[in-house]
Amino acid sequence: MIRATAFKGKTVAVFGLGASGLATVRALVEGGAEVAAWDDNEAGRKAAADAGAPLADLNAADWSKFAALILAPGVPLTHPEPHWTVKKAKAAGIETIGDVELFFRERKAIAPNAPVIAITGTNGKSTTTALIAHLLHEFGNDVQLGGNIGRAVLTLEPPSENRIHVLELSSFQIDLAPSATPTVAVLLNITPDHIDRHGTVEHYAEVKQRLVEGAETAAVIGVDDDFCAGIASALQKRGAPAVRRISVRTRLEEGNLHALEARVYDGEHLKADLAGIPTLRGSHNWQNAAAAIAAIEALPERYRANGDLAAALRSFPGLAHRLEVLPGIGPVEFINDSKATNADSTEKALASFESNIYWILGGKPKAGGITTLSSYFPRIAKAYLIGEATEEFADTLGIEVPFERSGTLDVAVRNATADALAANKPGSVVLLSPACASYDQFKNFEVRGDAFKRLVAEQVAERGGR
Ligand code: ADP
Repeated sequence: MIRATAFKGKTVAVFGLGASGLATVRALVEGGAEVAAWDDNEAGRKAAADAGAPLADLNAADWSKFAALILAPGVPLTHPEPHWTVKKAKAAGIETIGDVELFFRERKAIAPNAPVIAITGTNGKSTTTALIAHLLHEFGNDVQLGGNIGRAVLTLEPPSENRIHVLELSSFQIDLAPSATPTVAVLLNITPDHIDRHGTVEHYAEVKQRLVEGAETAAVIGVDDDFCAGIASALQKRGAPAVRRISVRTRLEEGNLHALEARVYDGEHLKADLAGIPTLRGSHNWQNAAAAIAAIEALPERYRANGDLAAALRSFPGLAHRLEVLPGIGPVEFINDSKATNADSTEKALASFESNIYWILGGKPKAGGITTLSSYFPRIAKAYLIGEATEEFADTLGIEVPFERSGTLDVAVRNATADALAANKPGSVVLLSPACASYDQFKNFEVRGDAFKRLVAEQVAERGGR
């Protein structure tokens, strides 16, 4: 774990006692601070007390004795309105920051040259973060992966020049980290998201921009959307740091990376061939891969000296629930894309398979449903509808796509498997990409995806796998 010494000998308020909040309390206490920890939720307070966190009712506290408020990223900082603790901090004239800020302050104090790659964007953060960590690990480095994925940042090993931190950062975490200065910052893309928490898409984009503005040696920016293209131009005009642009839409000149037809190029020079790598299917993953390559290339040579990039890309295991490849049966592939909780994400999945898709979808529908996906309908052999969205999606599919009302996931998997095997066509795929939230039938998308994996494993056991 990392000791946070920035508030040694001082008293700080910590609000939000989930996993990262508890790690923050521990890091501050180990770093010599006195901590007053609190949560609005009684269960959270109890868990914190059981874990030994020093609780103090921040409603009744004297805020003049606090040097800072350390806020969990899930708690509103600005919108829909600042949380009551944020208002109290402001009234007391103290700063409100998060655990990522504590990480960067500690790095500055103990190992200012320790390499850190920080990744943000609306989509693809986790995949790109995991891919960068995988590549660097394959190249023989000590890699610490965390932040908005996996472990809270302060539970990782401390920064050091012989170790690379690869951190996924959400916009909420960036908003609470005013001095985040990663060696390399990656901004993948920006589409309107979390507007409830940022007020406007412009403010959301402005928060994301801060991360690349803080980059010490290089900013890697996907320029296929207007917000990011604007941010890249603004940074380039300003001169430093080096900006490497990424596109999966158009060829870019030398010094930037474009990925077209599953190939990543630096100008005319071929850098990597992604064709046939099942975990990097689809142009969205080419964007992630190009950004990952640009990010590691921006590190000093010694961190990638003996690396075999092609081999390391091929061995990327991918992330669970995102176009996750499961064991197949005969000519039929099974893909778990349970993370696709809206039509935009499902579009990425449908774009990744050319035909013979046995598509399992449904759940708790989002506004707009699947109407935006109609150009992919010719790729669908049959659709299997589950959950609350069934009638709405049946209307959208209409007479264009054969479908059944499966009702539940187990029926859908059984029927889709039987239909795909009966058709016996090469390149066919049973795809769970629901385009819906899971809450009507499952606790979350992970539980839904795990259920799918179990049901597929049963089919494999029953019918014999490949
Ligand atoms: P995040 O961590 O930003 O939520 P993930 O890597 O977990 O992103 O991917 C979530 C979903 O977003 C994927 O299942 C896919 O549908 C979509 N996605 C992944 N990468 C990209 C990208 N570069 N651009 C657009 N969509 C993407």
